[in-house]
Amino acid sequence: KQECSIVAALAGAPNVGKTSLFNTLTGRAERVANWTGVTVDLKTAVVPYDNQRLCIVDLPGTYGLSGSGPEEQVARDFLIHQKPDVIIALADATNLEKTLYLPLEVAEYSGNTIIALTKIDAAEAKGIKIDVEGLSRDLGIPVVATSSLRGLGLDTLQETIVKVASRPGKPLHIDYGDLEEYIAKLEELLRSECKSTRDGLTRWLAVRLLEGLDWAPRIVEELCGEAAKRVIEEAERLRDEYRRRTGKDPGQHAVAAR
Ligand code: GDP
Ligand code: MG
Ligand code: MG
Repeated sequence: KQECSIVAALAGAPNVGKTSLFNTLTGRAERVANWTGVTVDLKTAVVPYDNQRLCIVDLPGTYGLSGSGPEEQVARDFLIHQKPDVIIALADATNLEKTLYLPLEVAEYSGNTIIALTKIDAAEAKGIKIDVEGLSRDLGIPVVATSSLRGLGLDTLQETIVKVASRPGKPLHIDYGDLEEYIAKLEELLRSECKSTRDGLTRWLAVRLLEGLDWAPRIVEELCGEAAKRVIEEAERLRDEYRRRTGKDPGQHAVAAR
């Protein structure tokens, strides 16, 4: 979008605090809308910060990025096709177990991820202590503790958005064990056949094609055009080969690895 110097999307599980963070970050900022090719209305606001125009987008709540529900489809399509400069992936500090999954799935394809821990005030009140620096170090992803209720961590978050937009990190590497050689083959094909796939996304998509997820072939068609058919057929062949050799289902194996 022209009016944005940085597009940052808020992604996270339902009730993690996306809308609250959106509202505190953007305040009375002007609302803009109408992403071309996006069929649902995604709330977007422009925030001036440090000579930049940060456009913050509130995505629908999703527990992950690999499901086939309508919310996941909207979030996934936006992330893949609109390519926001930064993804602020929210995890609820009072409920990390359930809410950290989506940020990790986002980080697995994008080095432009920030994890924002939300409701840090409520976590503190409950006596939950989170080693923010340790978590960030272990994952290799910036982690910012925030509270929309108390207005905590917002400056740090804005600073981090600008930093990550200009100097992205590396996608999170998940070891898929005996599926790795199949991933490598499919990734190579995607890379040679589909020009528009970027680094982390290529591997991410290769894994999900091997899992046989129902939405994955459509994404390949959108990204790869004419070459899609070859890629999809090869994925199917590799899936069969993996099943035959290991006796395991690649989908179950990949989910367990994550
Ligand atoms: P969304 O579904 O991800 O958009 O989440 P919402 O922003 O609607 O928030 C879900 C619930 O969490 C609401 O009841 C909010 O009041 C609460 N909430 C959001 N942010 C905070 C926060 O910083 N501190 C506390 N204590 N509660 C919060
Ligand atoms: Mg909600
Ligand atoms: Mg909301």
